[in-house]
Amino acid sequence: MSSESLVVYVNGEYVPREQARISIFDVGFLRGDAVFDTTSAWNGRIFKLFAHLERLELSLRAARIQCPLPPKALADVIVETTRRCGLRNAYIQTIVTRGEPPFGVRDLTQCRPGLFVFAIPYAYILGPDRIRTGGRAMIASIRALPVQCLDPKIKSLSRQHFDLAVLQGKSAGADVSLMLDLDGHVTEGPGFNVFVVKNGVMFSPPEGILVGITRQTVFELAAEHGLPAREASLTAYDLYAADEVFLTSTAGGIMPLVEIDGRAIGDGKPGPIFQRVHDQYWALRESGRDGTPVFLDTA
Ligand code: PLP
Repeated sequence: MSSESLVVYVNGEYVPREQARISIFDVGFLRGDAVFDTTSAWNGRIFKLFAHLERLELSLRAARIQCPLPPKALADVIVETTRRCGLRNAYIQTIVTRGEPPFGVRDLTQCRPGLFVFAIPYAYILGPDRIRTGGRAMIASIRALPVQCLDPKIKSLSRQHFDLAVLQGKSAGADVSLMLDLDGHVTEGPGFNVFVVKNGVMFSPPEGILVGITRQTVFELAAEHGLPAREASLTAYDLYAADEVFLTSTAGGIMPLVEIDGRAIGDGKPGPIFQRVHDQYWALRESGRDGTPVFLDTA
């Protein structure tokens, strides 16, 4: 697919990707003062669109940004952007910036928020090859933001700490980076939540994380299929001692890790619980359940 056929929603207009622009005076650009949410389409259906919109609404409220559109109209824009891009399998991002204040004014309450939606072909944090063989992770030395500073529950665009962790992992030859909080508890990683499997039970950190929709879906699938799963505080030790570790994200679904900081996880291969949850997740996506149709033929 060429990028020329893609369309972006920019403050009330659908424009070709190459013409999508933002003012450099938008505080979202100047200071990363913006929130966003990422959803995805599979087989022409957007998964749990209203759960994503609810999370966006909560991020906006916490960040004191007013969305230019009410949720129903925003849902229509997200569907329409994806439809105009002609993408059946898509990664879709909705961004609400604090906006630009009137010229010469520094008062943040006078900013007019900006709204942007784009869709690109479906993207993976760990691609299909790594999902088959398992990814390698390192624990970054950069720590997750404390809830006292910028609560990670807010899906904020301020992500330089994540990018630095990604670059650190890349320099060390890892596929992904995991992040601890200031007290050494496992949080999440740039763009994904974490599950540890020990003695048949799945554990995921309770705090200091974005409350992932895929993570929530894993808990729902676990309840449906009788797999034990719960929240628990975890340390690096729990990662190293795990039988299995897997990641969850809208960008890639359920993704296994087989090595962390040079230590093999379990027997060094994607494990059976990962495989079950992965298959259940993709069966759910294939079924279209919880999916908002993008095209007339998926309605
Ligand atoms: N944690 C962070 C920091 C994220 O950015 C994301 C997704 O973008 C996730 C976790 C996973 O959330 P979800 O499953 O809703 O995609």
